[in-house]
Amino acid sequence: MLKLLAPCLVVDTLYDINLEKLKKQGIRGIVFDLDNTIIPWNSSEICPEVLGWLTDLVNRDFKLCMVSNNGNRRVRQIAAQCEVPFVARALKPSRTGFRQAARVMELSPASIAVVGDQLFTDILGGNRLGMFTIWVKPLAAQEFIGTKFTRQLEKLAVRLLKSAGHLS
Ligand SMILES: [Mg+2]
Repeated sequence: MLKLLAPCLVVDTLYDINLEKLKKQGIRGIVFDLDNTIIPWNSSEICPEVLGWLTDLVNRDFKLCMVSNNGNRRVRQIAAQCEVPFVARALKPSRTGFRQAARVMELSPASIAVVGDQLFTDILGGNRLGMFTIWVKPLAAQEFIGTKFTRQLEKLAVRLLKSAGHLS
């Protein structure tokens, strides 16, 4: 169970993800979280750097899908800025939203990477389906009040994962 919280890869920023390496290991699609992964949670604009990164992914022939627990309107408005398909109200860590993303991308879970800032939603949900999970540091220090509690649990989980040897 604890192992399901362990990300396959930990990076500081989106730009630290080695895209060539992902390609070589058979990853064809990337599912990414919205809030605090590609956009600060209180913002409604994707910054040019992140847009450039997304364009780079498309140019490298990765299929993309956004999977967010946030509501339909906000997710659609942001997805439109980068012309990426999306699943809103995904109820992560439920598998449903991730399965839906896999269908949209027409890929098997094993060929999909999940990029997200939260262990208990993005990483846990992706791991449950056998996707390659990438944990990225949150974009904004300021967060939704509910997330602050989750961050405390995350810290505890990281300690446990490290002591069990699931995370370096
Ligand atoms: Mg997030």
